[in-house]
Amino acid sequence: MSKLEYMHDLVEGLKKDGVYRELPINYGPCANRIMLNHKEVINLSSNNYLGLATHPRVKQKAIEAVEKYGAGTGSVRTIVGNQDLLEELEELLAKFKEEEAVVCFQSGLNCNIGTIQAIVQKGDLIVSDALNHASIIDGTRLSKADKTVYKHSDMEDLERVLKENRDTYKNVLIITDGVFSMDGDLANLLEIVRLANKYDCLTYVDDAHGSGVLGRSGRGTVDHFGLHGQIDFIVGTLSKAIGVVGGYVATKKIVKEWLLHRARPLLFSTALPPAAIGATIESVKMLMESEEYTKKLWDNARYFKAKMKELGFDIGHSATPITPVMIGNEAKTMEFSRELLKAGVFVSGIVFPTVPIGTGRLRVMISAMHTKEDLDNALEAFATVGKKMQII
Ligand SMILES: *Cc1c(COP(=O)(O)O)cnc(C)c1O
Repeated sequence: MSKLEYMHDLVEGLKKDGVYRELPINYGPCANRIMLNHKEVINLSSNNYLGLATHPRVKQKAIEAVEKYGAGTGSVRTIVGNQDLLEELEELLAKFKEEEAVVCFQSGLNCNIGTIQAIVQKGDLIVSDALNHASIIDGTRLSKADKTVYKHSDMEDLERVLKENRDTYKNVLIITDGVFSMDGDLANLLEIVRLANKYDCLTYVDDAHGSGVLGRSGRGTVDHFGLHGQIDFIVGTLSKAIGVVGGYVATKKIVKEWLLHRARPLLFSTALPPAAIGATIESVKMLMESEEYTKKLWDNARYFKAKMKELGFDIGHSATPITPVMIGNEAKTMEFSRELLKAGVFVSGIVFPTVPIGTGRLRVMISAMHTKEDLDNALEAFATVGKKMQII
């Protein structure tokens, strides 16, 4: 018997549960229409909110960075991987976020894993929203601090947890997503900051879906709520609205000094490549120059949501361009997604265990790159499939 027999059993298990899948292949760039498995479809499933992943200005700066700095950095940041281009990006991001300092990581996931682990120790407590992103959960698991969870966005439950635990610990860190990615709802940051002040806690907001989307020119959820200077750690990603790859934490200078010594992804994993840094600098500059991109995103989102409501779909309570189309039953959700694909529209179905059982939905990701024709074609497909499957 092969030593890997257990692996066959595991994969068989996936198949039996009906959750085994093949990865779709995109034969081209992440644009409004993509060549998915060689078929052109409208792309309603990317995080490229502003279309910057394929913007000529952004691509040009990636090319120039490769010409000047090469393809790779050759080392972790603490040895020779800390190119001046990366220092420039961190300064620019700090200015954009209106915070003292920024530390960049290779991805948003990396940033959470490296930062959470470094900023709390044994004797501290992490208090986490029940629906926080997987990378927060992983960062929390790696930390030596104790952990506890409060009910999703339930501020009474958060206060109960703080009341019961505050005196037992040295530092207490409240962590929340800024925008929750499955429903598009916002964290109640005003109340979280009030409670953090009342109970003397640190605050940490992962704004991966808020950066480039909410606030002035996409400065994020903290800007949206007018809370500059009141959140201790603001995490953002460069992989979604910014259109490239990478993650960062905006914070105080003293935190940056500590992270440069203790954040393990900076110590043990090679620095971001020049192409990504050059491209990101341009994306951020474009956001600082103009609200054109965020405005187009929101115009598209408002248009699509209004039409979906008119058609009679339940689109949840999103406060962002993330548009969940609630179907409920898991099998029906996946069937809806397959039918849309046949009609030339790609929207991924999201079901248990990613979301609670019975709350299957299609998650439509609207972007500034969509034309009115894209949106109208997609709406037509939704209407046809929705009627055929008796959802509307
Ligand atoms: C997408 C996401 C991340 C991961 O960002 P990457 O840059 O893709 O690694 C982290 N946190 C949240 C809340 C996210 O939605």
